[in-house]
Amino acid sequence: MIPIRNVAIIAHVDHGKTTLVDALLRQSKTKLKKDIADKEFIMDSNEIERERGITIFSKNASVEWNGHKINIIDTPGHADFGGEVERVLKMADGCLLLVDAKEGPMPQTRFVLRKALEMGLRVIVVINKIDKPDARPDYVLDKTFDLFVELESDDKTLDFQVIYASAKQGKAGYDASLNRMKDISPVFETIVKKIPAPSGDENKPLQMLITTIFGDNFKGRIATGRIYNGVIRSGQEITHINRSGEQKKYRLVSLMTYQGLDRIDADIVKTG
Ligand code: GDP
Repeated sequence: MIPIRNVAIIAHVDHGKTTLVDALLRQSKTKLKKDIADKEFIMDSNEIERERGITIFSKNASVEWNGHKINIIDTPGHADFGGEVERVLKMADGCLLLVDAKEGPMPQTRFVLRKALEMGLRVIVVINKIDKPDARPDYVLDKTFDLFVELESDDKTLDFQVIYASAKQGKAGYDASLNRMKDISPVFETIVKKIPAPSGDENKPLQMLITTIFGDNFKGRIATGRIYNGVIRSGQEITHINRSGEQKKYRLVSLMTYQGLDRIDADIVKTG
C-alpha cells in the first residue's frame, strides 16, 4: 500500500499558505483538472474566503510525491475558529508552521501552534517569502524559536527542522540562499522524513473520526474524516455513533478519496 503522511498547515493570514499549497500541487505528479490547474490560486476556492481574504473553511488536498500520498490539511487562520482548529488538527500527524520572512510569527500563529503542540504533533518550520528584499530570516528564526520556548516546548520539539522558501517562485532549501534553490522538493522531503506515518491497523474493526459534514445535491450528506483503524468499502454497512453515544446502522452509498483538490470515487480505503 502507498505510504501516507497527514500534514496540517498553520500560518498567519497572508504568510503564503495558499501559494505554498499551490506550489506543492504543481510540482507533484498529482493529476489536476485542467480548469483547476489553470487557476492562479487553487486552495482559495471559496467565495467568502476570497472576499475576506482569510481561510475560514478548512479544506483538504492530497498530493503524490515520490511514491507517497501526502494529505495536506488546511487550518483556519483565526483564533475565532478555535473549535474547528482542534477538530481539523486531529486529522494530522504533524504540521508545517509557515512564517513570513519579514514579519515573523504573529499572535494567531501562536494560538494554532499551541494547539498543535498540545496534541503532540511534529512541527516543521517553513520561513517563506525569502525573495523579498526586506526579508530577515535570521531574526524570524530567532522569534520563532522564542515562540516555541514560550509555549514550553521540550528539547525534541525545539530541535525543529527549518526550511526556507519562496512559495511564489516554487522554491525551497535548507539554508536561506535563494540562488541555491532549485524547486520545492525540500518541503516534500522533510514531510516524508520528519512526520510519522499514521499508525492505524487495517486488521482492526473500522474506526473513522468525522471532522466535517456537508450536503451534496446528488449524493446527500458527505462526511469527511480520518480512518484510524480498519478498512472501509463502498456499499458496506456501517454503525454511526453520535455525540451522545447512540448507535445507528447505515449503508455507505459512496466512498471517495482526495486527489489534488478533487474527490474521486474509490472502492476501498484503508488506514495508513
Ligand atoms: P495565505 O493567506 O496564507 O493563503 O497567503 P497567500 O498564499 O494568499 O499569499 C498572500 C500574499 O503573499 C500574496 O500576494 C502572495 O502572492 C504573496 N506571497 C506568497 N508567497 C510569497 C513568496 O514566497 N514571496 C513573495 N514575495 N510573496 C509571496
